[in-house]
Amino acid sequence: MYEDMERVLIAEDEIARRVRELGAEISRDYAGKELLVVGILKGAVIFMADLVRCLNIPVRLDFMAVSSYGASSESSGVVRILKDLEQNIEGLDVLIVEDIVDTGLTLNYLRENLLTRGPASLKICTLLDKPSRRKVNVQVDYNGFVIPDEFVVGYGLDYDGRYRHLRDILILKRQVYCGKEQRENCT
Ligand code: 5GP
Ligand code: MG
Ligand code: MG
Repeated sequence: MYEDMERVLIAEDEIARRVRELGAEISRDYAGKELLVVGILKGAVIFMADLVRCLNIPVRLDFMAVSSYGASSESSGVVRILKDLEQNIEGLDVLIVEDIVDTGLTLNYLRENLLTRGPASLKICTLLDKPSRRKVNVQVDYNGFVIPDEFVVGYGLDYDGRYRHLRDILILKRQVYCGKEQRENCT
């Protein structure tokens, strides 16, 4: 498995430290309120599980699944809801938890979609931000790490469904995905 990896980008202990910081910040910002945390399946589940256990406010959890990538590592720009929230969010304080913001298309769509449902507030928390590939501007309220334009896996993030269980965030070797598809940085 590790022969597919270029190197560790962010190690387990560094992730844990940053997640605790984010949890403290979010707990302060929402003090006295109850928060509905919306995890975006499947990439955000590991991050979300760790993050919510660092919150000391009342919390409820819900999930959405959207498709944008399929087996590819390149965004199609088409976002489709595969699984919607189980609850009405009208009047609730909602925090979207996502693994990574890359082009911004997914989060932009999710924000617009959830805003039409009348939440009291809507914020976004991502573990990773790859600003160099942004196509649409999205306001991210909480971000774990800004990373360079590399394809990363681990800590919830996959390539073709694999590697989500790895405890570090790793850069995948280009030869693992180049050749299978056209990607800008494969040249
Ligand atoms: P966006 O719509 O912002 O381009 O893409 C967001 C989604 O693309 C993320 O939720 C994630 O599923 C996927 N993605 C973008 N960059 C990476 C990456 O470096 N590694 C992995 N595993 N997924 C990525
Ligand atoms: Mg995602
Ligand atoms: Mg994926």
